[in-house]
Amino acid sequence: MLDEVLNQIERRDRFLLTSHARPDGDAVGSSLACAQILRSMGKEAYVVLSDGVPVLYRPLPFSDSVLQSTDEAPDTETAIILECDGIARTKLNGLERHYLINIDHHATARPFAHVNWIDTSACATAEMIFRLARQAGVKISAEVATCLYAAVLTDTGLFCFPGTTARAFKLAEELVRCGADPVHIAQSIYFTTALSKMRLLGCALSTLQREGSLAWMHVTQEIMERCDATEADCEGLVNYILAIAGIEVALFFRELPDGNFRVSLRSRGHVNVAVVAESFGGGGHECASGCPVNGPLSNAVEQLRGRLKGRGYDSKVQ
Ligand code: 5GP
Repeated sequence: MLDEVLNQIERRDRFLLTSHARPDGDAVGSSLACAQILRSMGKEAYVVLSDGVPVLYRPLPFSDSVLQSTDEAPDTETAIILECDGIARTKLNGLERHYLINIDHHATARPFAHVNWIDTSACATAEMIFRLARQAGVKISAEVATCLYAAVLTDTGLFCFPGTTARAFKLAEELVRCGADPVHIAQSIYFTTALSKMRLLGCALSTLQREGSLAWMHVTQEIMERCDATEADCEGLVNYILAIAGIEVALFFRELPDGNFRVSLRSRGHVNVAVVAESFGGGGHECASGCPVNGPLSNAVEQLRGRLKGRGYDSKVQ
């Protein structure tokens, strides 16, 4: 399918690149890198992310060129949608008028585009973009390598999550050889935490509840306001639950302004949380997924606990 993606790219001139709303490191890094690779191929390329670039990823090369609406991008004929399971999740208008190329590595990826390159064995979409550059004969610059390395680092959870294979390390090695600075990238993403996020973490942890090998915590709108926190400050908080000994499945509930909730699900490996997220209209990976769920909080928690029962977490283990 990579050949077909390249074939379609070669036949076209102007590209819009995008990913899901609330973009994570792989969404941002892969989009920025892919756009630059297309420019090296003599194409016009514009990255459009409906929520812009989260503060954490603004130090990445080319991040200041990201647009937030399709109206700002000059007439583009082709949209490359990275790391995203459909047009709706991009929260952009007008994509349906484009020729669509879908590049994704999620377990719940869907073939919604004209060309669909889905590789669930890739540790990040960035791995696929690296292969695309190599196949196209494009030299990977230090800036592109930096974007791709940041994507791999964050999507493998600092090389801790499943997907951290020999191939992931080989890719990281190649990116470092191309000029990515692993220490600088890790420092700029993981050692620059906003005070508001730390305060939010403290508040969230104080709501922690446990039932056997399942644990969950939440933040309400009121807590977020009290901590002066943004949506972006919630990213990754769920991982602190999974750091607790004996926890197999972790849930993080974030209240939305309308009183409903977004849930982040994490699993240590025995429970497939992608299936659970998908059953609520979300998706993701077997070990890291997300979905919406109706409030109030008691309902949201009960819905998730109910759907997780019988899926391999032990409610008695302490
Ligand atoms: P997070 O919990 O960090 O928001 O998301 C974890 C993983 O699940 C990420 O790979 C993310 O792209 C995916 N994910 C989160 N929410 C959704 C959703 O509503 N739909 C789909 N398809 N994937 C999601």
